[in-house]
Amino acid sequence: MGRTADAVVIGAGVIGCAVAHALAGSGRSVLVVDRNPGPGQGSTSASSAIIRFNYSTLAGVATAWEAHWSWLEWEDFLGGPDEDGSLARFWRTGSLCLDAPGFEPAKVLRLFDQVGVPYEVFTAEEIRTAFPWLDPSRHYPPKPVDSEEFWDDPRGEIGGYVTPDAGFVDDPGFAAHNLATAARRRGVQFWFRSTVSGVRRRYERVVGVDLADGSRIDSPVVVNVSGPHSGQVNALAGVSADFVVGTRPLRVETHAVPAPPGFHLGGKPGPLVADLDLGTYFRGTPSGELLIGGSEPACDPLEWVDDPEGYDPKATRALYEAQVYRAARRLPDLTVPGRPSGIGALYDVADDWIPIYDKTALPGFYVAIGTSGNQFKNAPLVGAYLTAIIEACESGIDHDETPASFHLPRSGLDLDLSAYSRRRQPSPDSSNTVMG
Ligand SMILES: Cc1cc2nc3c(=O)[nH]c(=O)nc-3n(C[C@H](O)[C@H](O)[C@H](O)COP(=O)(O)OP(=O)(O)OC[C@H]3O[C@@H](n4cnc5c(N)ncnc54)[C@H](O)[C@@H]3O)c2cc1C
Repeated sequence: MGRTADAVVIGAGVIGCAVAHALAGSGRSVLVVDRNPGPGQGSTSASSAIIRFNYSTLAGVATAWEAHWSWLEWEDFLGGPDEDGSLARFWRTGSLCLDAPGFEPAKVLRLFDQVGVPYEVFTAEEIRTAFPWLDPSRHYPPKPVDSEEFWDDPRGEIGGYVTPDAGFVDDPGFAAHNLATAARRRGVQFWFRSTVSGVRRRYERVVGVDLADGSRIDSPVVVNVSGPHSGQVNALAGVSADFVVGTRPLRVETHAVPAPPGFHLGGKPGPLVADLDLGTYFRGTPSGELLIGGSEPACDPLEWVDDPEGYDPKATRALYEAQVYRAARRLPDLTVPGRPSGIGALYDVADDWIPIYDKTALPGFYVAIGTSGNQFKNAPLVGAYLTAIIEACESGIDHDETPASFHLPRSGLDLDLSAYSRRRQPSPDSSNTVMG
C-alpha cells in the first residue's frame, strides 16, 4: 500500500497537530502518522499545560506571550469547536514566581518590558497579604527531602513577581484533539496505530516514510514531531550528526493532592506558583486539587531514559515525597496523603532546555523537537514557525545561512527563528531546567 502527501508529520501530539494544522493552512496536503490510537496521547497527555511567560531568552518570552493569545481566542484560532461542540479551556489564574538565586527577576522583567508582558513585583509582606495560604520563607538551596537539612529553619523571606495573564489549559490531551479536529477541517488525514519505521531518501533528499506494517508514504516534506522519540526518529533519517544541540528523554513525575484551604476561591484555582527556592512548581485543577511538579533542583538526580517506551508511568514514593513535601513547606495547610498519587512521564529534553524548530542536513526533513517540558503553551505558534521555515527552505532559501524570521503582531517583534536552530551554541542564558 502506498500513499502520497505534500507533507508527512510524524507524531500527533499537541505540537504535531499544530504543525499539521498550520501546514494545511499553507495549502499543503498533510498526513499525520502516530503510533497511538488518537491525538495527544503521548507526552502531551501528561502535561501540566501551564501557560506562563517567564523564560530566560527574548525568544522564549516573546513566543509564550504571543501564543497565549491563541489560547485566549481558542475557538477563533481553530475556526470552530471540536466534534462534540466543546473545547479545551484556558484558565486565567495568574502566576506567582518566587525569587531564587540564578532566577533573579531583574533579567526576566527586562524581557517582559521588551515584549509587553504585564507584571507586578511583590514583597514577602505583599505575598502574604495577597496569598494567605502561602508562606514566603527563604529555603534556598533546595535540599533532598530525606536529609536533615531539609527541615532546617528558613533563613529570611523572599519576594516574587506576579503575571496576571498566566494560567493553564484543561486539558492538554483535549487541546491536541481540538487541533486535530481543526486540522481535519483543513483536509489533514490522520493515520493512528501506525509507526514510522524508516525515513526514505533518494538523491540526498527525503522522499517519504516507511511504516512498520510494510506500507509507505511518499512525500517531499517530513516533519519529526515525535516528542521523546525524537532522537530515535532523527536516527532513522540519519540526520543526528550535525545537531550541535542534542535531545534526550527524561523521566519526571507530577503529583496530585487536595489543594490547601483557601487556594480555590469561588470555584477558581489560585495562581500557579513557580518555586525555584524549594525546587518545585504547582498549580490548581478545576476539581479542587493541586498538581505538583519539580524544577530539577541540583540536589535531586535526574532520571535519563534510554528507551522512551521502557519507562515507568506510575508515581514513585521517593519523587512523590520530594515534590509534595517541598510544596508542603510552602503551603503550611497542605495535607499530604500517605499513598502517592500522580504519574510518571517523559520530557524530550534539549541540551539547553530550549526547543529545536529547524531544518536538518537532509533536505525536506524538518524537526519540532526538544520541547523540554515547557512547550505545550507554544504549540499554536510552533505550527506557524515550522511552516515559515519549511516555506523558506522549500523555496530555495538556506535557513542555516539566511534564517527565516517571524513577525509577532501582539508584541510587534520580528523573531529570528535561528533562536531554535539545531546548530546554535547551547544558550548561556538558559536556566537549564524546565523553566527554559
Ligand atoms: C509531565 C509534563 C509536564 C509538562 N508541563 C508543561 C507545562 O506546564 N507547560 C508547557 O508549556 N509544557 C509542559 N510540558 C511539555 C509539553 O507537554 C510538551 O512540550 C508537548 O506536549 C510536546 O508535544 P509533542 O507533540 O511534541 O510530543 P508528544 O505529545 O510526545 O507527541 C509525540 C507523538 O509522536 C508519536 N510517535 C513517536 N514516535 C513515533 C513513530 N516512530 N511513529 C509514529 N508516531 C510516533 C507518539 O506516539 C506521540 O503521540 C510538560 C510535559 C510533561 C511530560
